[in-house]
Amino acid sequence: MSLVEQLFRPRRLRQRKYATAVGAPKPRIGALARVWRDFVRAVYRRPNMPVFAHDVVSATRPSAVNTEIINICNADCSFCGYGKGEDGKASDPRVKGKLKPDVFRHALKIYSAGGGGNFTLSPILGEASAHPGWLDMVREARSYPNITGVNCFTNAILLDRFGSKNILTSGLTHIAISTCIGGREAYKRLYGVDKYDVVVANVFDLLRTNRELGEPVHIDVCLRIDKPFEKFYASDIYKQLTKVIDPRRIIILDDNWDDFRGVIGKEGLPEGQDFKEQYADKSTPCYALFRQLMVLTDGTIQACTCRVEPELWAGNVKDHATLEEAWRDPKLELIRKDWFEGKLARCCQQCSHYMPYTNLTEPARPQRVAREVLARAKRAIVN
Ligand code: SF4
Ligand code: SF4
Repeated sequence: MSLVEQLFRPRRLRQRKYATAVGAPKPRIGALARVWRDFVRAVYRRPNMPVFAHDVVSATRPSAVNTEIINICNADCSFCGYGKGEDGKASDPRVKGKLKPDVFRHALKIYSAGGGGNFTLSPILGEASAHPGWLDMVREARSYPNITGVNCFTNAILLDRFGSKNILTSGLTHIAISTCIGGREAYKRLYGVDKYDVVVANVFDLLRTNRELGEPVHIDVCLRIDKPFEKFYASDIYKQLTKVIDPRRIIILDDNWDDFRGVIGKEGLPEGQDFKEQYADKSTPCYALFRQLMVLTDGTIQACTCRVEPELWAGNVKDHATLEEAWRDPKLELIRKDWFEGKLARCCQQCSHYMPYTNLTEPARPQRVAREVLARAKRAIVN
């Protein structure tokens, strides 16, 4: 908890373990705390940003909505739960399918009416571009007045089927490419398919076209590669990559791997890499319960975006007329409330994605706010 938060925390809550809990009345905060909150939100230009822990719990809407476009993938990554287990269902027990159009439209409608913002059209375990209507769905999302952007993850295998220009002018605003660049053998070992040449050509074409178009889309290249990374940084392909993308947007996952609750062994990880360490203390509810509204292909609201976890399934988004109602779905609230009371689902006890929800207020720490103010001032001067 930040110093400012401690100072401005309502007195009657200072003795409590948590700033608030689901169902508890919204605490009243003092004038100074309100000024600080308004200031932080103005700096980040995010009017709903949580500044204090109780802002997270009492929020009337999620920071974004994510609809699971498809649960089918065209890769078979050694480090991913997709298709693993005896019947291929160890990490996703459902039948394979695509997002129901009526669920998609309802989610768009209530999100836009509820204030909108960035919309995520990404699978949990699957590949967005494996849905033939991928870009039409992006266009449809952007036709809603308050939907200001669309994000998605892709493994880039099928991008040539759509064409870089079509992808970049579809209305997508953020693409995260998950891939392995730096060798055919490593790619096949890690992604389970022999598509290295196609993927490299697709990634470079997308990045070059984005440059030519003036970078309408923020693209991150998220690499899953063997250690030592120095080998990759010394390679020709890294040099070529940095000619078409800012090196700061090349992100290598480093010892931060999920084991999908024991489904993935260390042999599935890139060489030299390790699993993320589990938090020893999970008494504070997980951040994932308070961040995005995750809507599965059939409309089921899931309390978390990280995995497919039946224990975290709540009501159906179509049964809610507003975004706030969906965010306050009774089963979803019960999952949150139970955690505040020390009862967390079995899947969460075993999950390495866990982080305390109070981490969502990290950007509001005074040091982070000061850095943001300086960065914005610098950008303003340069421009
Ligand atoms: S591309 Fe993504 S969803 Fe598909 S197998 Fe790999 S990590 Fe899993
Ligand atoms: S602990 Fe894991 S499964 Fe549970 S809510 Fe958090 S991220 Fe999701």
